[in-house]
Amino acid sequence: MSVSSFARTRRALASGQTSCRQIAEHFLSAVADKNPRLNAFTHVDEAGVRRRADYLDAVLSRGDKLPLAGLVLGVKDVLCIRDWPVTCSSRILQGHTPRFDATVIARLRAAGALFIGRTNCDEFAMGSTNETSYYGPVRHPTRDGWVPGGSSGGSAAAVAAGLCHAALGTDTGGSVRQPAAFCGVVGFKPTYGRVSRNGLIAYASSFDCVGTFTHCIEDAAAILDVMAGVDGRDATSASGVAPDCTAVLPGSVRGLRFGLPNEYFSDGLDAEVQEAIKRVAQQLKESGAEVIPVHMPHTDYGVATYYILAAAEASSNLARYDGVRYGYRVAAEALADMYSSTRREGFGFEVKRRVMLGTYVLSAGYYDAYYAKAQRVRTLVRKDFDEAFKHADVLLTPVSPVAGARFGEWGEDPLKMYLSDIYTVTANLAGVPGLSVPIGTHSQGLRIGVQLLGRPFDEETLLGAGDGLMVLAGTSD
Ligand code: GLN
Repeated sequence: MSVSSFARTRRALASGQTSCRQIAEHFLSAVADKNPRLNAFTHVDEAGVRRRADYLDAVLSRGDKLPLAGLVLGVKDVLCIRDWPVTCSSRILQGHTPRFDATVIARLRAAGALFIGRTNCDEFAMGSTNETSYYGPVRHPTRDGWVPGGSSGGSAAAVAAGLCHAALGTDTGGSVRQPAAFCGVVGFKPTYGRVSRNGLIAYASSFDCVGTFTHCIEDAAAILDVMAGVDGRDATSASGVAPDCTAVLPGSVRGLRFGLPNEYFSDGLDAEVQEAIKRVAQQLKESGAEVIPVHMPHTDYGVATYYILAAAEASSNLARYDGVRYGYRVAAEALADMYSSTRREGFGFEVKRRVMLGTYVLSAGYYDAYYAKAQRVRTLVRKDFDEAFKHADVLLTPVSPVAGARFGEWGEDPLKMYLSDIYTVTANLAGVPGLSVPIGTHSQGLRIGVQLLGRPFDEETLLGAGDGLMVLAGTSD
């Protein structure tokens, strides 16, 4: 685990070697130093984080215990925080300031977290490169000219560059796992429904999931344990016992069955990424795990299914931005002109493309051919997972066919970008939890990640496996 993990800070805090105020100052100066190049944060709450650090120091000095006291968190620009602007990195939400905390924010705040700032992202979380933000692109933490991944690129780059201990992101089709892999940090998407979506501005409601970027599994577990659990404000949040992931750490891979789905090692996969995963699979076997092939025949339909359903949901969710209720408004004499001018100027190109695609697949003549058909395929993808988990405890796959992309590389050809989501979207179609952990370095100096997918609501096994795997890969210390 690296120097800037929360697990390490927590021990230093407990032994009196540091204070919340010192931790806050450390990260504020790292942001001042590195953010001008990275563009990972679009808003930094310097006064707020100092005030909060002093308050937490006072609480701790009374002997009170808070599980996340001193955790400095970046928050993706799609989660509502009381009195902070939230814009989804879009022009259309400029000037919008919510008056409430998202449920995850309220829970983390009560547990002692400090929110340092808003992280940049693709507009409305649509994208895989962080190039569509109204605030401009986020840069890769170590490689000039390369994207950090997306859509939660700001969160990934901020953690990788040491601007905060951890960051919240959202994963609708891979937006936590893919940028985590590109930037070399741990990206974790829990089971759909495990974490409340109340206060998360919707992209595609039946896919959206709040996830984390951290340096180690221990931090991901500690944050999930606080965020998880049923919420009366989100009807899709799952009831049942919330997990105790911290309790299963340190994890081990011994005795676990890792399934390697043939369909996830297809032609377009980068040879070095494939090689790195094979190496890890070999290390797993040598450490007492079983590695078995599994068959997931509907994987190839994942991208098409995802882009039909996510666009359909987005077109409906984004209908509310009409210049009347939130943020940006273009003045016009007639009401209909105000609506259309506001949306024309307020939304960027990629968002408009998705809204048009979504409206098309939902329109009367095409509903059965596209939307209804895609819903049926979604069920088949879920069945692939049910079947695979009869034989395997965890699935081991690539995160992305590539270890990175250059700026502009996918801009000309959006289909290429959509296809690069092939290994991540299936988990969101099925609702299963997913984890991306760093396992090595690519010859181009980029990072290589591997994806682990778990049974629904079994985050404990997934995180335990990830922890054991990072030890084997030499990416945990
Ligand atoms: N790249 C995918 C998309 O653009 C996933 C985005 C996400 O997970 N938010 O839809």
